[in-house]
Amino acid sequence: MSEPDDAEVFAHYPDVHIDRDNIAHYRGLMGGRLLINRCSDCGHWIYPHRPLCPACLSWNVVPTEVSGRGSLYMWTLIYQSRDPDTPLYEPILTAAVELAEQPGLRYLSRVVGCPPEALRHDMPLRLTWIEEAGRNWPAFEPAG
Ligand SMILES: [Zn+2]
Repeated sequence: MSEPDDAEVFAHYPDVHIDRDNIAHYRGLMGGRLLINRCSDCGHWIYPHRPLCPACLSWNVVPTEVSGRGSLYMWTLIYQSRDPDTPLYEPILTAAVELAEQPGLRYLSRVVGCPPEALRHDMPLRLTWIEEAGRNWPAFEPAG
C-alpha cells in the first residue's frame, strides 16, 4: 500500500486542523504507525508537532515511528464533546502518556482496556489502536 498523498490525508480528517507540521503524523495514523517528530541532528523527540528542534534549534526534523511503550503520566475523564450535535454517551478516558523514547515526551491519547479507578501514575502502557467513526486512532492500554 502506498502512502496516502496530502489530499487523501485532508479528506480523511476533515474535522482535524492539518498543517505542514502535523500532516506526517496523520499520514502515519492512516497507515497504523504512530509518528513523532525527531531531530536528526541531536535525537531530541518533539511533541506537540513542531518543525524546529527546541533542544538545538535545528530544522532537520523527521517524523519517526515510536516503540509504542510508555507510562501513564496523568489522565482525566471528558464528559462533553467538542461538537454539541454529537453528545458523548459515556465519558472518554484521556491521558498524557509519557513515551519511553524520552523523559517528558508526553503524547495525548485515549486509554482503553482499563477502568478509570484502576489507573495509577507511572503504570506501564502500550500502544494499541481503536476504530471510531471509520477511522483508526492510537490509544494506550495497560502493558502488564
Ligand atoms: Zn535537535
